[in-house]
Amino acid sequence: MTGTTDPLVVPGDLLGTAEEFVPGRGTYEDRGKIYSALLGHRRVDPSDRAVRVDAVHAVPSIHDDDIVYGRVDEVKSAMAIVTILAGSGSPRTIPGTPEGTVHISKAKDGYTEALSDEFAPGDLIVARVLQSHPSVKLSTAAADLGVVSARCSSCHGLLARAEKGGLRCPRCGNQERRKTATDYGRVPGVGPAPDGGRAD
Ligand SMILES: [Zn+2]
Repeated sequence: MTGTTDPLVVPGDLLGTAEEFVPGRGTYEDRGKIYSALLGHRRVDPSDRAVRVDAVHAVPSIHDDDIVYGRVDEVKSAMAIVTILAGSGSPRTIPGTPEGTVHISKAKDGYTEALSDEFAPGDLIVARVLQSHPSVKLSTAAADLGVVSARCSSCHGLLARAEKGGLRCPRCGNQERRKTATDYGRVPGVGPAPDGGRAD
């Protein structure tokens, strides 16, 4: 019930359906589904089945070598544009939601032919801050960095690791590629897939 093991969610993440849960603080309901309105931890009160999001606390700035969570907004040919959501460790929001970039040369070790094979808009990533000023430059090259949560480009389901490598959509079977972190699907997560099963 408590502690930092509760999944970290970002605004817009699906928390469950209105049949399963009562929408609580930090959430909103839309067409029978309950979403997070905040960056924070998803919690469920078993006594009344209320799902709520406890906001995480702000930090003043980010620094070189910090590990941060971000959401990919746009993938260009040479860089991915990322909204930085929180620091890692004890996740905290960062005021002003600064923007960072992952240059194609910093996406992974070795040569990256197409950045669109490594990231897609909406992906949640964990990255290291190479440079914090004047602009935020990020790297996802290390094995423990990269995409930790991604959605299917065809049905929007949460992608799971495929046995043969890469990612697979448990809902529609779509196969996708990403530069995943070793903790894909585990670290901040977006809670259990409310509508999906598991990969076969
Ligand atoms: Zn799918």
